[in-house]
Amino acid sequence: MSSVASASTPTEKEVLFHPELLQKFDINGPRYTSYPSADRFHNEFCEADYLSALKRVAKVNEPLSLYFHLPFCPNICYYCGCNKIITKDHGRSAKYIKYLAKEMAMVCTAMGAQKKIPVTQLHWGGGTPTFLSHEEMTELMHHTREHFDLLPGGEYSIEIDPRRVTEADIALLAELGFNRISLGVQDFNLEVQQAVHRVQTIEETQAVMDWSRKYGFKSRSVDLIYGLPKQTPETFKETVDAVLKMNPDRLSVYNYAHLPHIFKPQRRIAEADLPGAADKLDILSNTIARLGEVGYVFIGMDHFAKPDDELAIAQKEGKLHRNFQGYSTQAECDLLAFGISSIGKVDDSYSQNVRTLDEYYAAIDDGHLPTLRGLQLDKDDLLRRELIGELMCQFALDTELFAKSHQIEFPSYFNTEIEELKRLEEAGLLEWQGAKMVVPIKGRLLARRVAMTFDRHLRESQAKGTYSKVL
Ligand code: SF4
Repeated sequence: MSSVASASTPTEKEVLFHPELLQKFDINGPRYTSYPSADRFHNEFCEADYLSALKRVAKVNEPLSLYFHLPFCPNICYYCGCNKIITKDHGRSAKYIKYLAKEMAMVCTAMGAQKKIPVTQLHWGGGTPTFLSHEEMTELMHHTREHFDLLPGGEYSIEIDPRRVTEADIALLAELGFNRISLGVQDFNLEVQQAVHRVQTIEETQAVMDWSRKYGFKSRSVDLIYGLPKQTPETFKETVDAVLKMNPDRLSVYNYAHLPHIFKPQRRIAEADLPGAADKLDILSNTIARLGEVGYVFIGMDHFAKPDDELAIAQKEGKLHRNFQGYSTQAECDLLAFGISSIGKVDDSYSQNVRTLDEYYAAIDDGHLPTLRGLQLDKDDLLRRELIGELMCQFALDTELFAKSHQIEFPSYFNTEIEELKRLEEAGLLEWQGAKMVVPIKGRLLARRVAMTFDRHLRESQAKGTYSKVL
C-alpha cells in the first residue's frame, strides 16, 4: 500500500466532509475553469476580436500556455461529455494534424512573431490524444517546436487512455518532451465498466504507470468518476484501493453528471442503474476518508495530491492557479488553443473554435481563424475573475488588499452579495478573519458554491439548468 505521508490526516473526513452541508447546498453551478463560464460566450465575438487580442498579447512577450484538442476515439464511453469523434480511420487524424499546423502558423503570423514564442505549459487533451500514430505525434510536436520554444521546467502534459497505449508510445511521448500524464480510469469494477462501455484492466493501467516512471515522467495523475451506473460504496472502495496501490501523485474524483438531453451517449445508460443520492454521498465520504488516511491533500473541487506534489506546495505558498485543465502551478499565462471546440484565453478575452471538422477545415481553407464565439471581459469581469480564482485556489481572499488593488470599496461594490454571504456564513461555508474572507475546511468541498455568490452573470441570467451538481 502506498502511504504518501508519515503524518496521515485521519480527521480529513470529519473536517472536510459534512453531509448536511452537501445536501443543503448541492445545487447546480459552474466549475469555474474560467470566469465568466463558457456558457456566457457569444457569437458577436468573432475572428477580428481574437486577432486583436493576439496582437495585444504579442507585445507583452510573456511565456504562453498551449492547448491542442485531439478529438478522435476508437470507441465510445457512454458517460462521455467531451467533443469527440468516434472513428477507427487514421486518415482522419492525419488530415487534422496538417490543419493544426496551419492554424498554428496563422496564429503566429497574426502575432507578428519574428522568433519562436516562449511556452511554459502545453497540454494535449481529447478525445484520445494517443489515437495519433507515432508519425502524427512526432509531426504535431515538430510543428509546435517550429513556432514555439518549450522552456525547461514547464508543465507538458497529455491525457492517456491506458487501454490503447504501449511502452513504445510512452517512450516516444517522453522523447517528445512530455513530463506529466493523466490517466483515465473512472472505475475498475467490471460490471460498472460494462455498463459504461469502457472495459479496462488494472494490469493495463499499472503497466502505463510503470512505463511512465521508467521513462522519467515527473507526475502521474488518475481520474476517477463516482455516480456511474452499477457503482456501490463497496465496489468503489475496491477501485480506490487499487488506484492507491499504483501510487499516483494526483487524483481527481469527479461526480458523474447525467445530462442525457445534452450528451447523447449518456442515453445508453439506464437511469435505474445509477446509484442513489445516499450511496453517492457514502462513496464520496469513503473516498475522502481513504485519501486522507494515506495522506493526500485536498486541493480543491475534486482534486487531491500528495503533500510533496507541486500542486500541494503551490497551494501552501499561495501560488496555485486554475485554468481550463483544472489546477496548475504555472502563473496565469495567456492560453492559445488549437483544434475543434478548443477554448483560448488571450489578454482579456476568451475565444472558442468551431465544433465540427467540416467547419474547422472550411475556415482554415478560406484563410480564416476558426473562431466560433468568445467573450471580451469588462473591468467587472476581470475583478470577479480574480476574486473567484482566489476562492477556488486559496480558499481565502484578503478583501482589503483586493479592494486597494482594484480601487473599490469592498462592501459597497459587493452590496448585492452581502445577504447571500451572511447566509453562507451562518451555514459555516464562510468566515471572516478581520478583513480576510475565508472558506473554512468544512466548507471547502463547496468552495464553488461560495464563488457562485460573486458570479454576476449567473445571478443575472439565473440559467442554472445546464450545470453539473456542485458535488
Ligand atoms: S470518455 Fe474519453 S475516451 Fe471515452 S469517448 Fe469520451 S473522449 Fe473518448
